[in-house]
Amino acid sequence: MPNRKLVAGNWKMHGTAAGIAEIVRIASAVPPEVDVALCLPATLIERAARAVPSFAIGAQDVHSEAGGAFTGDVCAAQLHDAGASIVIVGHSERRDLHREDDAVVRSKAAAALVAGLRVILCVGETLEVRDAGEAIATVTAQLDASLPPAPVEAVAYEPIWAIGTGRIPSLEDIGAMHAALRGRLVAAHGDRGHSVRLLYGGSVKPANAAAIFAVSDVDGALVGGASLTASDFLPIVEAAAQA
Ligand code: PEP
Repeated sequence: MPNRKLVAGNWKMHGTAAGIAEIVRIASAVPPEVDVALCLPATLIERAARAVPSFAIGAQDVHSEAGGAFTGDVCAAQLHDAGASIVIVGHSERRDLHREDDAVVRSKAAAALVAGLRVILCVGETLEVRDAGEAIATVTAQLDASLPPAPVEAVAYEPIWAIGTGRIPSLEDIGAMHAALRGRLVAAHGDRGHSVRLLYGGSVKPANAAAIFAVSDVDGALVGGASLTASDFLPIVEAAAQA
């Protein structure tokens, strides 16, 4: 049986208090057939969670330690305490700009699970790797090395060259990657690997969402730019509900 779809928005470093109205607009229009979450800047999590208490608010990163002398960082228990129920780990912008390797991503995911947060774990290849024909080998190896021992909520396949560029892989390439990732999840977790949701991320828009959601083993999307407004995000959510 196919997994219920999950559409998660990643607001990155966008949004101040003025954005709460947009979050309320999104949360109040979610159809019952689909799960939706918004991963917000840490500064907005508590306000958003109070504004839309029955809607999933998430974070975009978490520290791997449970607390301590880590200036500027936020641990999983603090995110949970602020009202987050889900967190992204291993986004390519963290892997690249903050030099987070697979071992760091794995420990962040494990720490988030211990604190009761659901985890969206991101993997994805560069254009050079894709062009060299090594995308599946590279991304499955990345997943193997980043997975914590217990199953995560979702794995997001995000080709780095598709993020924020308006380009996406062919639907065949998305399907082939998701099939390979599913195989690795089942190898790691047995039957439970089937229920880890596989999200596609990278330039998902209202115009391409339905076609992407129709691909086998695509259980939803991680959406950056198009998650910032209800007018862009809700048609993507609706496409997931119809899929
Ligand atoms: C992302 O950063 O996770 C993302 C998918 O961004 P965009 O949708 O803007 O490509």
